[in-house]
Amino acid sequence: MNVAVLSGGVGGARFVRGLVEAADPSRVTVIGNVGDDLEVLGLHVSPDLDSILYALAGLNDEERGWGRAGETWNALEAVGDLGGEAWFKLGDRDLGLHLVRTQWLREGEPLSAVTRRLAVALGIEATVLPATDDRLRTFVQTDAGELSFQDWFVRRGHRDEVNGVRFDGVETARAAPGVTEALKNADLIVIAPSNPYVSIGPVLAVQEIREALTGRRIPSVAVSPLIGGRSVKGPADRMLSRLQGGTDPIQVAQCYLGLIDALVIDETDADGAAAVEDVGVRAIVTRTLMSNPDARKRLAEAALEATAALR
Ligand code: GDP
Ligand code: CA
Repeated sequence: MNVAVLSGGVGGARFVRGLVEAADPSRVTVIGNVGDDLEVLGLHVSPDLDSILYALAGLNDEERGWGRAGETWNALEAVGDLGGEAWFKLGDRDLGLHLVRTQWLREGEPLSAVTRRLAVALGIEATVLPATDDRLRTFVQTDAGELSFQDWFVRRGHRDEVNGVRFDGVETARAAPGVTEALKNADLIVIAPSNPYVSIGPVLAVQEIREALTGRRIPSVAVSPLIGGRSVKGPADRMLSRLQGGTDPIQVAQCYLGLIDALVIDETDADGAAAVEDVGVRAIVTRTLMSNPDARKRLAEAALEATAALR
């Protein structure tokens, strides 16, 4: 079975790792968010793609949820001591990847080709693609004005409430090579338990990707990033309450109406299942906390089994 999965960083990468343990990794294509990409210290950083690469290579820091395990921070400390830009945390080993990526991009390679080379070097069997090779950047509207994604998320610790989201460059962004093909050749499309607005939003905002989903002839299933109406980490719950009017499964389903046939929700949210079914989306109730390798594999299996349930 070919599986195409749309993914953000922390939640997405955890889930994708479970997916390659539950399915044939060579038939998994991950389509990653690039709306959070940024230039730091002259380097091109793709935080969500990196979380996915590190998780698939088994190099990720499970505890922190981002970056590499066993990381050290000498370079960044030196940057700070010199009065350089040190608010965006880049570990020494992580910096190695950003150096290589940046060089290859400057030599004219598109991000998709660079990502493929990195994945091969890391021994990853699954295909990892950026949603687009074009410049697409997320901005959030807050009472403090419009902020670039990382300014809001990292520098200001996502404390500002979000009134709206804008994806700069999306009007002209094309899906990266391989993306629409993967969606067309998939037997199942999965939306990972990622932030619907700022992780999955930028992916779905690429017209060709959205059209591939709305015109799909195969099942599509999303996994809710909320447990008991709360995010495991990050601002998804606050954004859903403010922008969608609540944090029940129905509000998650509403983010994806027309794009999914089923929504995997947590046992603790089971009483919200009926409202999801009322809008024509199958609710699949299971345990969704990916607290260990077993749990993340079981969650991936539940999503894969949705195909059978939808027949
Ligand atoms: P980011 O790009 O690093 O912000 O990561 P994502 O958008 O991919 O993931 C963030 C979301 O993952 C948050 O809304 C979390 O609630 C969700 N998440 C993290 N761990 C888990 C988990 O174990 N289970 C579920 N269901 N969601 C999770
Ligand atoms: Ca992200």
